[in-house]
Amino acid sequence: MHGPVKIALCEMAPGHERCMYCGDNQGTDVDHFEPMRRSPLRTFDWLNHLLACSLCNSHKKRDRFPVDAAGSPMLIDPTTDDPDEHLFLSLATGVYRARTDKGRHAIDVYDLNRDVLVDGRASARWVLASLFREWESARSREYWTRMDRIADTVRGQPFADGCQAMLRQAVLQGASVIFEDDPDLAALLLSEPLRAVFLR
Ligand SMILES: [Zn+2]
Repeated sequence: MHGPVKIALCEMAPGHERCMYCGDNQGTDVDHFEPMRRSPLRTFDWLNHLLACSLCNSHKKRDRFPVDAAGSPMLIDPTTDDPDEHLFLSLATGVYRARTDKGRHAIDVYDLNRDVLVDGRASARWVLASLFREWESARSREYWTRMDRIADTVRGQPFADGCQAMLRQAVLQGASVIFEDDPDLAALLLSEPLRAVFLR
């Protein structure tokens, strides 16, 4: 991966070279966040290089790079922006909602709510919930190796954004509504040892 790149965008799955935009596919391309046509001087700027899948990079984003009236980028910059400020993931449906104009452009340009991603995020929530429970069960028995294996498995899952969204939404005021179908999970997500391992 790109060592100095601060991992931030909504989807970014650390360690397993997944696409930094959709978090689903393997990252096979190096995307120039600012297209070379717009910023030729940034062509070799390390922070302008992001690992992306060919679908997000070549088919969705291409050379699209919305800017505001002053010419400032209206896309979330994974190296400087906190995606949480711009996007909200509905855990129940797997759909991203925009909190800001930058979020709206990100959803549009990367097609973040395409069916395969929405379905994948909705399923990921259930996979993650069982992995968290497995991890907690291993912790209560002090099965350290098993805890490490489960933690590695969580980190290797696609849709790392779902993991972060679960942990972050568990502390929101509306958490009891967000997790109303699974209050035990809501309680588990507040566990400090679990948060220490999985919350970025
Ligand atoms: Zn992608």
